[in-house]
Amino acid sequence: MMNAGFVTAAYIVAAILFILSLSGLSQQETARRGNYYGIAGMAIAVIATIGSGAVDSYVLLILMVLIGGSIGAVLASRVEMTQMPELVAILHSFVGLAAVLVGFSSYFDPNAHLVGAAHTIHNIEVYLGILIGALTFTGSVVAFGKLNGKIGSKPLMLPHRHLLNAGIGVLCFVLLLVFLNVGTGTGTFVLVLMTLLAFAFGIHMVMAIGGADMPVVISMLNSYSGWAAAATGFMLSNDLLIIVGALVGSSGAILSYIMCRAMNRKFLSVIMGGFGTGSTGAAGAADGEEQGEAVAIQAAEVAAMLSDANEVVIVPGYGMAVAHAQHPVSELTQKLKAAGVNVRFAIHPVAGRMPGHMNVLLAEANVPYDLVLEMDEINDELSDVDVVIVIGANDIVNPSAMDNPDSPIAGMPVLEVWNARQVIVSKRGMATGYAGVENPLFFKDNTRMLFGDAKDSVSAILSEL
Ligand code: NDP
Repeated sequence: MMNAGFVTAAYIVAAILFILSLSGLSQQETARRGNYYGIAGMAIAVIATIGSGAVDSYVLLILMVLIGGSIGAVLASRVEMTQMPELVAILHSFVGLAAVLVGFSSYFDPNAHLVGAAHTIHNIEVYLGILIGALTFTGSVVAFGKLNGKIGSKPLMLPHRHLLNAGIGVLCFVLLLVFLNVGTGTGTFVLVLMTLLAFAFGIHMVMAIGGADMPVVISMLNSYSGWAAAATGFMLSNDLLIIVGALVGSSGAILSYIMCRAMNRKFLSVIMGGFGTGSTGAAGAADGEEQGEAVAIQAAEVAAMLSDANEVVIVPGYGMAVAHAQHPVSELTQKLKAAGVNVRFAIHPVAGRMPGHMNVLLAEANVPYDLVLEMDEINDELSDVDVVIVIGANDIVNPSAMDNPDSPIAGMPVLEVWNARQVIVSKRGMATGYAGVENPLFFKDNTRMLFGDAKDSVSAILSEL
């Protein structure tokens, strides 16, 4: 068994590694290194915790690590890149569930002999830990369902839902006061009641959030899972868990803020839910009728167009991830570059299904970082571009976000690709994107549709070039 000083030292090293990991992850060039720091920090943390003497039964521990570890390894090795957001969502739910379980076990701990203020503080920790954990748990499960399509992306609008939420909030606070003033018997009843309320709140909160707001919800649940972990750290008096929880909690909160800015949404209105309702269906359909027909194009013509171009911008979206088209896209980039064409990528902050989704795919396919630009860096320059190729993107290039105030995505900044001379859209058919909104871009005079799976289409262009 390690002595206490050694464990503390290990925890400090791990905490520093986690901070280095986060700062590494903030930039693509250093992201890989950031991951290694994180892995090293976690390994040290686990070894130090196991050796700290807090473990009663090593046999049970090893058994559980083996079972949990193998399930995790199998799931992670099977998961497709497109299912990554779902995996992250369900992992958040585990953090929440763990906080609930730790909360109950620490409430029933027969070895706890706290009295007076220490007892009250511990009970508050237990109560808050279970509360945050429970709503993170059900909220993440619903987010998982919404991401993999098992639950529709339309917001659920219960009557008086704000009143309902406020009521649950007030009730939870009253129950906390009751909880602090009763014995274990009634206390257990109150805890269970609050847990059920928090479960319901988590479900309702995420169910009420519409398609295009999902990126914010995901980063918000990420943040909640951090606070749940920090609460667990308080209950277990584990400093490292408190530090890590706070790191995850606050970085998740910052990410939520960044995503809100990117979507031009106020954090509070996201939480209040209901984005993506409006007069969706009706307005969309009416627009569709006026828009006339989309014009298709073949790969050979696209290849000819690209050979004549000086400036090309590629806009990747969720469909590129589905089709695994990043490698042919990277090849296309090299080929055009070699032919003297200036090729760049335009990345929308919510492209794909998780923050940074497109950057990860392009990095995987070895697209040089300096070709990859953020929306704000390139939007104004799109009018000087000869050809924009939209690959499996839809919502992020939807002009109705700018010119149709009734659109469910009205106000969301988009890549203004229609300002370019020619727009090529590669997708399989005329289906809508995640937000379920019709896209007038497809019917513009300078837009041509390259129908088919994105990987096949890009490969076809490549072989024509
Ligand atoms: P969208 O979901 O708007 O559109 C993707 C398009 O890809 C679809 O219209 C689909 O059309 C096409 N597609 C699907 N499979 C293929 C394929 N194999 N080959 C070619 N095309 C394909 O994606 P965007 O990236 O434009 O926008 C992201 C959306 O997801 C936004 O609404 C965002 O709010 C939301 N979201 C983002 C998250 C994030 O953190 N980034 C998290 C959760 C949601 P078709 O079927 O016709 O081929």
